[in-house]
Amino acid sequence: MLPSLFISHGSPMLALQPGASGPALKRLAAEMPRPKAIVVVSAHWESQELLVSGNPAPETWHDFGGFPQELFAVQYPAPGQPQLAAQIVELLTADGLSARIDNQRPFDHGTWVPLSLMYPDADIPVVQVSLPSRMGPALQTRVGRALASLREQGVLLIGSGSITHNLGELDWRAGPESIEPWARDFRDWIVDKLTALDEAALHDYRRQAPHAVRSHPSDEHLLPLYFARGAGGPFSVAHQGFTMGALGMDIYRFG
Ligand code: ZN
Repeated sequence: MLPSLFISHGSPMLALQPGASGPALKRLAAEMPRPKAIVVVSAHWESQELLVSGNPAPETWHDFGGFPQELFAVQYPAPGQPQLAAQIVELLTADGLSARIDNQRPFDHGTWVPLSLMYPDADIPVVQVSLPSRMGPALQTRVGRALASLREQGVLLIGSGSITHNLGELDWRAGPESIEPWARDFRDWIVDKLTALDEAALHDYRRQAPHAVRSHPSDEHLLPLYFARGAGGPFSVAHQGFTMGALGMDIYRFG
């Protein structure tokens, strides 16, 4: 059975400058059975309600500005899978959650950037589930649990965000060895609680974790972690690191 994954997707430039994440993502893809389809909850699809992408041929959305033209030329032409999207809506509905299909949704960079490094051939169908970020961590845990059975059907479930994400505190010249202590303390606390299976503390991270608000001024980049955890099995660290001093690049595996 496939695991679920939490991937810190970093800056969109990761697609062109994969650093240490690229080999880690490649290795992960090589270790796992090849998925029949991939479901992604991305920090870059915030919504009020739960939406599921039913677009059969999603475009690659360059949902950012101020990056080199070369990045805007990157395409990730994986197909969607409307049938799987419908199944996801059924699973969510059976769990008492309301969800509906969005037929227009393109792939945001939280989806296509890491997938371009894991599955560069773009030949595995991808469905996105939106992130009702105002509903907080508990909803994501629940959505993950509601979709966990898809793993038995060969579907890879991914939460794509960032283990720390404070863009105002990044040092764009910092090398990978320079790490802000507050960012590391926060990351270490999360890893401790994941290891201890302390769901209550994880759901209450904003009050309990050290430097929580500094690490996540808004929490849409952490919430996909809860989806991945809810969807998967035993926790293990697949990759750890920071870029720009404080942008966490950790990748976690559940199962
Ligand atoms: Zn992001």
